[in-house]
Amino acid sequence: MTPEADRPASDAGDDSVVVRVDRDRCIGSGMCALSAPGSLALGADGLAHPVRQASPHGGPAGERLTEELAEAVDFCPVEALALYSARSGRLSPPSW
Ligand code: SF4
Repeated sequence: MTPEADRPASDAGDDSVVVRVDRDRCIGSGMCALSAPGSLALGADGLAHPVRQASPHGGPAGERLTEELAEAVDFCPVEALALYSARSGRLSPPSW
């Protein structure tokens, strides 16, 4: 079980999610940034990163699960994206 201090804080509601990028897997295809530009972008290093980096509470920023974000997670060619519940910190299925 995830310790309370390690759980991401949410500033987007109880059902918000945190998107994480496995940068060891990401190949910089840019598909996620095109699909969900409000949630994901390519950095100067050519790899994806979440647009919302940190919440005012210090943890990863939570955001509303949009259809675009769910599709970006589903269609990443190397499964580098994962969604977590901002409230519980548990892995969330990308589909809604
Ligand atoms: S779709 Fe996947 S591989 Fe492509 S940039 Fe996004 S995270 Fe990286």
